[in-house]
Amino acid sequence: LYVDTELSEGAEIRLDGGHAHYLLKVMRIKEGQPVKLFDNRTGEYLAHVTMLGKRDLILLIDGKTREREIVPDLWLLAAPIKKDRYNWVAEKATELGVAKMVPVQTERTQNVQVKPDKIWVHMIEAAEQCERTALPALDGLIKLDEMLQNWPTDRHLFFADERVHESGEGSFRKALVAHAGPAALLIGPEGGFSDRENEAIRALPQSVPVSLGPRILRADTAAVAAISLWMAGRGD
Ligand code: SAM
Repeated sequence: LYVDTELSEGAEIRLDGGHAHYLLKVMRIKEGQPVKLFDNRTGEYLAHVTMLGKRDLILLIDGKTREREIVPDLWLLAAPIKKDRYNWVAEKATELGVAKMVPVQTERTQNVQVKPDKIWVHMIEAAEQCERTALPALDGLIKLDEMLQNWPTDRHLFFADERVHESGEGSFRKALVAHAGPAALLIGPEGGFSDRENEAIRALPQSVPVSLGPRILRADTAAVAAISLWMAGRGD
């Protein structure tokens, strides 16, 4: 379970709210039982229950079980899509190990709302489920043009472009070999990028157009496919 406070061996932690409900009512936890906690700052700890209340419980931390992990330096820049699909992308991106997720507003996503607090809940749940000890960072919504203007010089932008061919310019495998180092994946909205946006992205020196195969994937599928390809080629 993720707790938003720095943990250390020997410390006592009081849990209430959603965590307490989960442990007391869903898991029906008993005194003395072990619970794994992580704080997204120092690592993962094993604790045990020392006091059970009706709506809260106290845990004593026995010791550290893992250091906070270092995830591959990959950002996911994804244009917002329908809420439940975007939350799904956030969940899968967390499981697959991205370091950061950035919602990017494009010409064809003007009307889509992003709710960072809801996305964050999905990321936490995914991290707990897959036993990640470092949560991905989550940036606020940024406009595509603004993002391109301030793009860091040392980070490659793998731009998922359904217009390039997988066996030619868009070979993901070749792009991985040619462009080592910090990277980001840029995935467009359901309607794709406009021609103007496409040109602006390509004009960025760090931009690398990549294909995700011969079919046009839905934006959520494209995000997960791109992360998996990158991780398979580069992540460790
Ligand atoms: N322009 C399109 C249209 O409306 O016909 C489709 C956009 S697609 C549903 C959403 C996004 O997924 C694209 O902007 C792109 O970033 C990514 N994508 C989907 N299929 C892809 C592929 N085969 N190769 C590279 N990127 C892909």
